[in-house]
Amino acid sequence: MAKSSVLGYPRIGADREWKKALEAFWAGKLDESAFQSRLQELRLNHLRKQQEKGIDLIAVNDFSYYDHVLDTATMFGIVPSRFEYEGGAVPLSLYYGIARGTKDATASEMTKWFNTNYHYIVPELNGATPTLTENKPLNAYREAKEKLGIEGKPVILGPLTFLKLSKGYKVEETDAWLDRLVPLYVQVLKELAEAGVQWVQIDEPILVTKIGGDDIARLKTIYETFATAVPGLNVLLQTYFESVEHYSEIIQLPVQGIGLDFVHGLTGNLKAIQDIGFPADKFLGAGVIDGRGIWRADLREKLGLLEVLSKIVSEDRILVQSSCSLLHVPVTVANEAKLLPELKEALAFADEKLDEIVLLTKGIVSGGTSIEDALAQCDAALLGLKQSNERNRKDVQQTVAAISAQQPQRSRPFAERHIAQQDKWQLPILPTTTIGSFPQSAEVRKARQLWRKGEWSPEQYESFIRDQIDIWVKLQEEIGLDVLVHGEFERTDMVEFFGEKLAGFAFTQYGWVQSYGSRCVKPPVIFGDVAFVEPMTVEETKYAQSKTTRPVKGMLTGPITIMNWSFVREDITREQIAYQLAYALRQEVESLEQAGIGMIQVDEPAVREGLPLKEQDQATYLDWAVKAFRMTTCTVQETTQIHTHMCYCEFHDMIDSIEAMDADVISIETSRSHGELIHSFEENTYELGIGLGVYDIHSPRVPEVEEMTGMIDRALRVLNPQLFWINPDCGLKTRGLEETVASLRNMVEATQIAREKYSA
Ligand code: GLN
Ligand code: ZN
Repeated sequence: MAKSSVLGYPRIGADREWKKALEAFWAGKLDESAFQSRLQELRLNHLRKQQEKGIDLIAVNDFSYYDHVLDTATMFGIVPSRFEYEGGAVPLSLYYGIARGTKDATASEMTKWFNTNYHYIVPELNGATPTLTENKPLNAYREAKEKLGIEGKPVILGPLTFLKLSKGYKVEETDAWLDRLVPLYVQVLKELAEAGVQWVQIDEPILVTKIGGDDIARLKTIYETFATAVPGLNVLLQTYFESVEHYSEIIQLPVQGIGLDFVHGLTGNLKAIQDIGFPADKFLGAGVIDGRGIWRADLREKLGLLEVLSKIVSEDRILVQSSCSLLHVPVTVANEAKLLPELKEALAFADEKLDEIVLLTKGIVSGGTSIEDALAQCDAALLGLKQSNERNRKDVQQTVAAISAQQPQRSRPFAERHIAQQDKWQLPILPTTTIGSFPQSAEVRKARQLWRKGEWSPEQYESFIRDQIDIWVKLQEEIGLDVLVHGEFERTDMVEFFGEKLAGFAFTQYGWVQSYGSRCVKPPVIFGDVAFVEPMTVEETKYAQSKTTRPVKGMLTGPITIMNWSFVREDITREQIAYQLAYALRQEVESLEQAGIGMIQVDEPAVREGLPLKEQDQATYLDWAVKAFRMTTCTVQETTQIHTHMCYCEFHDMIDSIEAMDADVISIETSRSHGELIHSFEENTYELGIGLGVYDIHSPRVPEVEEMTGMIDRALRVLNPQLFWINPDCGLKTRGLEETVASLRNMVEATQIAREKYSA
């Protein structure tokens, strides 16, 4: 008999109860014991649900108070030295201090968990003396057993992955660090075995990335140590998000099970297992249900896959499971009341995926329970989606196919456009601008709420937005900025705003997923052919332009960013989706141009996030991402100036792709990469307009004029002053009014100083 298994379940709750509890606790509205019992209740509910659905191997210790990487660090007493800590179990106040900062110490950095939109807290090893402060997996195991009679499968982040995700040590110290950590893991595992644990899941997602031979040797040592020290315990070495590198070495490790992703790493993992085989004495964790996607699985296809696998691994050694933790999908489709029926039927969030896993486990058994009814239901749902009008817009498909068959190109090369644009715009050297949004004050958010609730008429809301635009156009003129923006007061979210206005998108009511800490996002669903319906940004931009003689930049979110921050359909490729978006946005760009807007910014902050994990796939992705941007922007006149903006990531290793986007001007976040970006321009010249952010907008601090002249000087050592722009790092939406005005005034003053120096 095959068994069903889940790698982890979402923490946040169907109605974000987890988020609400955390925030209430932080705000002092919930005391620690009430908070603890609320979280326990949630945790047990999640386990109970899996138990009721009939999952055999239920993950415990997947629940967290913030982040599972931080849990691992604090379990080992790894606390950054700037926090006060005297050893022992890390109290909640310190735990949250590390995650969110305190008045005396800054928070630890957070970064993306592989190629997902989940962010983890980066452990800081420098100065730490690891000890086992508390056996968290053991506590979780005991709780599940005592309260619910569940024989849980504790989940632990493996030592190699933990170390690779940490910072604050030198590569040469890797082995020394493993020598410190591995004994602590051994202790954890020993205690688990003594408590009667049968299976433990050790996550080593790092094995799907490029790791060297020395790391494989380390892996062997680690898992041999575990096997020798805790011989009775079944270890399931779990990987996900891609196919493993070094398959043949990995299957020889002395563990009892190996979990592979047969969704996102399907091609590689399937090929490896078919070519090389699988050890007869091991269990295979067959990750066939997509743990990160929102679509119902094609159960027949999955059964086919399981059948292929069962020719290589005996059926009773197969664990039917999700491809990764269900952390990355919303909780349930059940409460969605506003979706098109064919869409709702075709979705599967965490709870529905549990059902799929159980069904497949039954279905794989030859002569077992019939799942014919479920298969028929699945067929109908998939067919319904396929036949949806939204997915069959022949007009869109044909036009996009025709357009994407050509190489998108502006009518003239940059050097010529630049002269024509200088002529038209007559901007001073080192022109100043901002990234798009201005502070969204409480007043702005309130107004939007009133309008959304219907308490304000659309006219009332529009006139409020116009007043905001008036205020900020005046302010920008007064501050002395050269290229103005309307301020984006009508937008909450840069993707949602466009998704709501384009065809092909759907919005769930409860489809939240954890992004970092208590912060959740509700990504739009791109489920149909994307199409332009009517102009989306023209009114506000035109209005702003009517109030000033200086140029106002139009402001759009680019195709790749919209795609990367949405859940997308899977019947066509991401590349095709990007081109559909590009074509739709191109019509917006053209509408702006026709309305007299001669500078248009297409933001692409999320380009880098879509980069595939495997190096060999990256160039292809970048090629079509660049092409989608060019498709969006290539039809304008030569004098129309196309801007773009990027942030959140380090871009120094993709300057070539950025240049290939052929935007007339790019503004790019700089301060967080600490000069690394500037450095990279020493080696690669950049021949288009560029503004390296001269101040960090992530803090309310008003930067001094000298700091910014310093930044400008540093940049102009490697970049051409004739092509250089002065702007902040990113949009100013989250800042306050006063600090924003003060910062921008200083920025303009710094520019004046620089102009005197560089116009000579
Ligand atoms: N134009 C957007 C803004 O200023 C860009 C946001 C972003 O880069 N994330 O808010
Ligand atoms: Zn930005």
